[in-house]
Formats: sequence, structure tokens, C-alpha cells
Amino acid sequence: MALGSFWSKVRNLLGQKSKIDQDTIEELEELLIEADVGFETTDLLIENLQISLGKQRHYQASEVISTLKNEIEKLMMEDDQELSSSVEIQKKNEGIPHVILVVGVNGSGKTTSIGKLAFKYVSQGHSVLLGASDTFRTGAIEQLSIWAQRAGCSIVKQQLNSDPAAVAYDTIQSAVAKKIDYVIIDTAGRLYNQISLMNELKKIKRSIAKVLPSAPHEVLLVLDGSTGQNAVNQAREFLNQTQVSGLVMTKLDGTAKGGVLIGISQQLRVPVRYIGTGEAITDLQLFDKKEFVNSLFG
Ligand code: GDP
Ligand code: MG
Repeated sequence: MALGSFWSKVRNLLGQKSKIDQDTIEELEELLIEADVGFETTDLLIENLQISLGKQRHYQASEVISTLKNEIEKLMMEDDQELSSSVEIQKKNEGIPHVILVVGVNGSGKTTSIGKLAFKYVSQGHSVLLGASDTFRTGAIEQLSIWAQRAGCSIVKQQLNSDPAAVAYDTIQSAVAKKIDYVIIDTAGRLYNQISLMNELKKIKRSIAKVLPSAPHEVLLVLDGSTGQNAVNQAREFLNQTQVSGLVMTKLDGTAKGGVLIGISQQLRVPVRYIGTGEAITDLQLFDKKEFVNSLFG
């Protein structure tokens, strides 16, 4: 997947040489940066790599590759352990809707991911209700309606420019009355520094909690994974403004920037919950670090 090209570059770099010296390690560092692993995580990885390899003038290429893979695995598993409690978000109460609020900037893939997620839950036999709280952008309500149809679930909507908090309120009320299993609320794209829009988000959250005090149970921040470290920086700012329980990294198909997945949880202290790997309804996967690391080894 997303890091395939990275590993072939690493193999090319290291495979050409019988002995690996410090210059090559520096080139490796550049490759990690290029794959958008991020400076902080790259530093940490290279440092750990050097410690594990020990002080020598030269290393075997195979030794460097396997040690690097090991270090990536260790890094990802460690932050997995720390974050596991928050990753294990599961619907707890039967008869009470599990409410997921979806936020992020314009075009990051919120509506598409909601359609995919709805489909996933419907396929598992759950009832799902979508709330069209992006009342701002022309076509947004229609777009979500089409996804509801594809996924085989219902939707609560009002007209363009109606109050998004009121739509969210109606959606939760309807879901409670109908004992819906999962509610997913779409929202308009917003940047962390758009104060009125960030306040609007707070208002949406309050409206949800008015009907169901324990909700929203999850707030998913959707990030365009093809923008690599820009997505991480954007998320960092967003997290300063509002509470987020998990990340959705989209558009990881056809990008060489998947390295962002290696250090993002560690950098942000928020788990990646899902990854989007295409535009089709089935192109959403629960992010599994073990699987991801194994795919690097494969
Ligand atoms: P929103 O503004 O955040 O709701 O974003 P949309 O859901 O409307 O998506 C914006 C564009 O990104 C659309 O053209 C989607 O088809 C596309 N998109 C979303 N997720 C993915 C993904 O995982 N892979 C690819 N290739 N495209 C995606
Ligand atoms: Mg949208």
C-alpha cells in the first residue's frame, strides 16, 4: 500500500552496497522524510536505529533493513499500547444510539468516509442514521443523501443554510425514538482558526448532548493523508481547539506519503481509527498497526 514505494527505495539504496556507512544512513534519513514520516519521528527512528546497530564504521545492508523494520514496529506498537484504551471505542449500550461526529476541513473526505462507515455498520447488521449537518455547502446534503442510499441507511436533513445544530438535534431525537444503533453526523468543512465555525461545532456538540448526555461518543477528525505532514500540522491545531477521539486518514491510495501513519499517533496522542484507500464504498479499513507493519515486512 502506501509505503510500498518507500521500501523499494530503501532496498535500492541499501541493496546496492555491501557495506552501509554513515553517509548511507543519512540518505536513509532523507528517504524517511520524503515518505513524510516527519522530522520528529524520523529523528527518533534514526537514533534508535543507531543505538540498536551499535557503534561500527560499517553495517551489513540486510542488518540495517531488518533493524529499521524492527524499530518502526517497536515505535508503532508502543504508542498503540499507550493509546489502546481510546482505540477500543465500542458501542456499549443496547437501545441507545452510538453517536459519531465527523469533522475536518473541506475536501478532506468527511462525507465519503461517512458513506463508507455507514455501509460497514449496515453490513454488520446495524441500523444507521445519518445527520446532514453540513448545511453550508451547496450539494452537500444531496451528496450525503446519495451515500445514505448506497449504504442502505436513513438520513435526517433540512434545507440548505438551516442551523446545523438543529439538524443534529433532530437526528439524535429521531435516532433515540427509533432505537437506531449508529448515528453519524456530517459537518461543514472548517479550519481550526475560523472562530465562528469552531463555535458552531461546539454548538452542534451541545445540541447532541441535550438529547443524549453521553453523546457524541466519538469525534472523528478526517485528514487528507495525501498531504502528509501538512495533515499532521493541521490536526495538531485542530486538537488544540476541540476534543477528538480518533483520526481518519483518507486518500492513502496512490500516495507515497503514507509514512505519516508511522508517527502520527505518537506525535498527536490520538489514534488513527480508519484509513481511506479509494473512492469506492468498501475502501475504508480499520487501521490495524500490526497489519500495517506486516505489510511493510511483506
Ligand atoms: P468533504 O468535503 O470532507 O466531505 O470531502 P468529500 O467526502 O466530499 O471528498 C472529497 C473528494 O475526495 C471526493 O472527490 C472524494 O471522492 C475524494 N476521496 C475521499 N476519500 C478518498 C480516498 O480514500 N481515496 C481517494 N482516492 N479519494 C477520496
Ligand atoms: Mg462533505
